[in-house]
Amino acid sequence: MFIEMRNVKKFFGTQGNFIDVLNDVSLQIEEGQVCVVLGPSGSGKSTLLNAIGGLDKVNSGEILIDGINITTLSQKKTAIYRRDYLGFVFQFYNLIPNLTVRENIQVSEHLSKTPLDIDELLEVLNISDQQNNYPSQLSGGQQQRCSVARALAKNPKLLLCDEPTGALDYNSSKEMLVLLEKINKKYGTTIMIITHNEAIKNMADQVFYIRDGKVNVSINKQPVPASEIRW
Ligand code: ADP
Ligand code: MG
Repeated sequence: MFIEMRNVKKFFGTQGNFIDVLNDVSLQIEEGQVCVVLGPSGSGKSTLLNAIGGLDKVNSGEILIDGINITTLSQKKTAIYRRDYLGFVFQFYNLIPNLTVRENIQVSEHLSKTPLDIDELLEVLNISDQQNNYPSQLSGGQQQRCSVARALAKNPKLLLCDEPTGALDYNSSKEMLVLLEKINKKYGTTIMIITHNEAIKNMADQVFYIRDGKVNVSINKQPVPASEIRW
């Protein structure tokens, strides 16, 4: 199993005033799957992703990635895990404003011994003609495609996307989902997508619904192509 969470608990707060955000959560993800995380605002979607991404420590339980228990790694080893395994995409792109599109992507390329080819990525994400422009000269959709290219440049096994379409209009959102699906197929990247949009669950191999600290897992035997999703 590529990812396995076993009885994970994560709470916030101090004595007598805890919120159990993840309350005994167990789940499994196979390599190459697309997973969608759904749940109301404040239900713990980002907490779940950040725990898998080694950005935040959990209070108990195990998180195994490729057989490595990341909950017991030192800070240094956690940083190496993040560098070697993960790409992150956030709602608000987080591009470096004074670097061009190409330079933004190159920053991540240098983190890997086996990076993907930047020209190919620019092509796949349909931003070749923007490569010498600065982020402020791009549309939201183009900026998000650039941030996906940056996340992918180091060829991560796992792409964690926290509301990647949260700031995009309908057409750009659809285009982003089609691209994420294409990346999954072309590079075999395992992808987790947090969203508020129920329709997106149809393209996933697995859907995780978070509510009241619990995760409900639903498996799609036949995911729908992203291009056919409507909302
Ligand atoms: P979601 O991404 O589903 O909107 P989050 O995972 O960001 O939810 O947050 C889940 C709950 O945990 C919320 O009640 C939030 O206020 C709380 N929370 C998240 N991060 C922290 C933190 N660093 N300190 C205290 N409470 C937090
Ligand atoms: Mg969130």
